Amino acid sequence: MTDPIKRTGLARRFWEHKPLDRMTRQEWEALCDGCGKCCLNKLEDEDSGEVALTRVACRLLDDTTCRCAQYDIRHQFVPECIVLRPDNLDSHAYWMPATCAYRLLWEGKPLYGWHPLISGTAQSVHDAGVSVQGWTVPEFEVPEEEWEDYVIEEPT
Ligand code: SF4
Ligand code: SF4
Repeated sequence: MTDPIKRTGLARRFWEHKPLDRMTRQEWEALCDGCGKCCLNKLEDEDSGEVALTRVACRLLDDTTCRCAQYDIRHQFVPECIVLRPDNLDSHAYWMPATCAYRLLWEGKPLYGWHPLISGTAQSVHDAGVSVQGWTVPEFEVPEEEWEDYVIEEPT
């Protein structure tokens, strides 16, 4: 599979010595492993703050590639889609997937060996079984009141 994210020309293991808020735009974007898990709908318990992941995906997610089908113009269709940045990571990290590179680095943890920046190929994310490839349900097929029936454990 061709990597849709440009990861060439970057300093070797830049994420190990460069703080998130000092990264260039390309370095920041290259941290995304392409798992697609942040595009799954979540249910948040208002009292406990607990977040449950469902396999009901955002209407724009293509679960073959695990990419957003309209990334550049996605806000025209999904205005609430979050643009993750170093200055808003503090408020979003809690709901990000446990294996998400942004969350891992925010928590001071290393990236996994299957991350494309380490493995050198985008396919390793799917081979490791941590992506959403092939098992989501589009949100237009499931009414929101039934999402509870689609709660899953995060694949890690
Ligand atoms: S969960 Fe993180 S690593 Fe995975 S697609 Fe979303 S932003 Fe990228
Ligand atoms: S709009 Fe695109 S990037 Fe945002 S959640 Fe949906 S599929 Fe993911």
